[in-house]
Amino acid sequence: MCSEAGRYRRALSCAVAIAVAVVANSAICAPIDGPQFSGERAMIWLDRQCDLGPRDPGSPGHASLKGLIAAQAESLGLRCVSLCFGVDDPYGDGRLEVCNLVISAGPPGGRRLWVGAHYDTRPRCDRETDPARAKARLPGANDGASGTAILLHLAELLATATLPRGVDLIFFDAEDYGLEGDLANYCLGSARLASTWRDFGSPLAEGRPEGLILLDMVGKRDLNIPLEGHSLRMAEPWTRAVFERAGELGLAQFVPVPGPAIIDDHLPFLRAGVPAVDLIDFDYPQWHTLRDTPDACSAASLEAVGRLVWDICRRPLS
Ligand SMILES: [Zn+2]
Repeated sequence: MCSEAGRYRRALSCAVAIAVAVVANSAICAPIDGPQFSGERAMIWLDRQCDLGPRDPGSPGHASLKGLIAAQAESLGLRCVSLCFGVDDPYGDGRLEVCNLVISAGPPGGRRLWVGAHYDTRPRCDRETDPARAKARLPGANDGASGTAILLHLAELLATATLPRGVDLIFFDAEDYGLEGDLANYCLGSARLASTWRDFGSPLAEGRPEGLILLDMVGKRDLNIPLEGHSLRMAEPWTRAVFERAGELGLAQFVPVPGPAIIDDHLPFLRAGVPAVDLIDFDYPQWHTLRDTPDACSAASLEAVGRLVWDICRRPLS
């Protein structure tokens, strides 16, 4: 239990650390007591996903991962709700089932933190120059598994923590289904959730979001995450607050300079008025190629991002 006085002292010591650090050029606050986020553990979750094979909607790997996420929540005693809907496959004859999954932890209802990542992977490697290789389905170690791995480890930590407010982990489906340039067929799961989260039966309808932190492509070695363009333009206070916390924690992987604007799962929520920040390092030569494999990723990168989000889970930004 953390008293108000204890909280004040911690805030004050952080402020002092930052003031000193401005001079010393390295702002670092001591981590909060209790279990810490482990990059090694998150890396195990990344490997486990990749071991399932490609995870594009409709594939066996996708079905296995959906089951794995739900089973993991159940084993931890956390509620997991699947929100599924069907769409006509834009590139085939059949129907595509799209399922967002939401794992909830902490006090029910009220003001809540949303943390999201897409768990699907791309059904093609269209950045490969060899046409035969371009038809292969993406391994998706960084683009898919990295953010999902952090969410799966966060679920383990959240299950045993006393939290100041509820946290919803949102596993988005069908983020990466569209052909290049066909923007209408990206972010299928998040677009649906952004317009339906208040509906009857939605686990998210029971509370109100203080904001969404989206994790995408956060596992590459030598991670450098700038201020993503849409986040900065449409949710600047939320975005700045997240990066300021990263600075307080001394996480050098977060570089508060403007970066590219990315079409991603945060965008439908920004358009719906929910503050949302996309933590993404888009400078990734293996993007949409067969080389997006676990060896391109590192536990240290996952740990930096995980530490930041885990800190915000326990110490709200405002
Ligand atoms: Zn992608």
